[in-house]
Amino acid sequence: MSGHEPIILNPGAPVTLAIVDYGIYPLTPCCQASGKGLEDCIGCRACYREVEVYYGDVWSLGDERGWDTYEWILLDEGVERGEARRLVASAREQAAATGRATTPLGVR
Ligand SMILES: [Zn+2]
Repeated sequence: MSGHEPIILNPGAPVTLAIVDYGIYPLTPCCQASGKGLEDCIGCRACYREVEVYYGDVWSLGDERGWDTYEWILLDEGVERGEARRLVASAREQAAATGRATTPLGVR
């Protein structure tokens, strides 16, 4: 597999993540696509529907703020807290196993 193809974390979860070499980002529930900055909002890269601003977030493996954001997104989508924590922990394990996104964002 090419190192540039996103790997999906937590497939089947209410909100999935994608991991690439440089970071981890949430995928939109409508299209499983990344968020994209539009003129005055964040939109789904596939259908251009406006989505919550957190779909524009990117974080690295060791970034606690990013994982907190993912837990918050899951809660916002109606996932129960215990299940949200389990999904976050599971995604972190899957992310670590890829060997990607280990460099903090902005450090090259
Ligand atoms: Zn969409």
